[in-house]
Amino acid sequence: MNHILEVDGLNSFYGRSHILFGASLSVAPGETVCLMGRNGAGKTTTFRSIMGLTPPKTGRIIFKGKNCTGMPSYKMARMGMGFVPEDRRIFGPLTVQENLELGKISGRKGRWAMDTVLAQFPILERCKDRLGGSLSGGEQQMLTIARALMGNPDLLVLDEPTEGLAPVIVTVLKELIMGLKSTDTTILLSEQNIRFAMGVSDRVVVIDKGHVVYTGTIEEFKNQEMVQKKYLAV
Ligand code: ATP
Repeated sequence: MNHILEVDGLNSFYGRSHILFGASLSVAPGETVCLMGRNGAGKTTTFRSIMGLTPPKTGRIIFKGKNCTGMPSYKMARMGMGFVPEDRRIFGPLTVQENLELGKISGRKGRWAMDTVLAQFPILERCKDRLGGSLSGGEQQMLTIARALMGNPDLLVLDEPTEGLAPVIVTVLKELIMGLKSTDTTILLSEQNIRFAMGVSDRVVVIDKGHVVYTGTIEEFKNQEMVQKKYLAV
């Protein structure tokens, strides 16, 4: 299978702390892959390593057939990697529309523009003239995802999108991701919320203490009670 992203054997460090131990995963075009693990398992570090924010000491990152290991994050973005970090940095003094404008990346074209993005996110259409800082946590999360889409990414990378969101907003987010899947958007996300991950993903990769301990389709994963209990239950 031709993968859009192949991550092979990452060893990443913060200073002298060894965090990722040979982590590997892959994403095929059109797939939604979920990296699952408890707090501190290494999900964010994996994404930071892929994005060039915490470049791995060893290992390879092949994106769209090109070796991008250690490439700076702005270049990864220009190549089509749309990263939505955990901390949802939006611009509070700017309106929703202005925030979205900032997501455009020159030279990247595709189906996503202001009208198509707002049509996909009715929640944002309704508050497009409000200031970013006045949005609820759920609306801010939608805005960060929508802003990443404005750059017409080939791969959308979402770090723990449900974190801190009320259950009702998690349901909205699930519908939104299902909507994106139906547009053939390719997604790599991280999650601790098993139910959410099972609802949206095609494949699951489980990480524990910086080691990838399980990879399988969602159907296989559903029957892996031992894996779920050992590595994901709180
Ligand atoms: P979370 O759900 O908490 O975000 P995670 O799976 O994303 O968890 P990481 O943030 O990748 O986990 O953290 C992996 C390990 O790296 C943890 O043990 C964490 O304490 C450590 N770590 C994270 N950031 C740093 C840092 N800047 N310096 C040193 N250690 C760090």
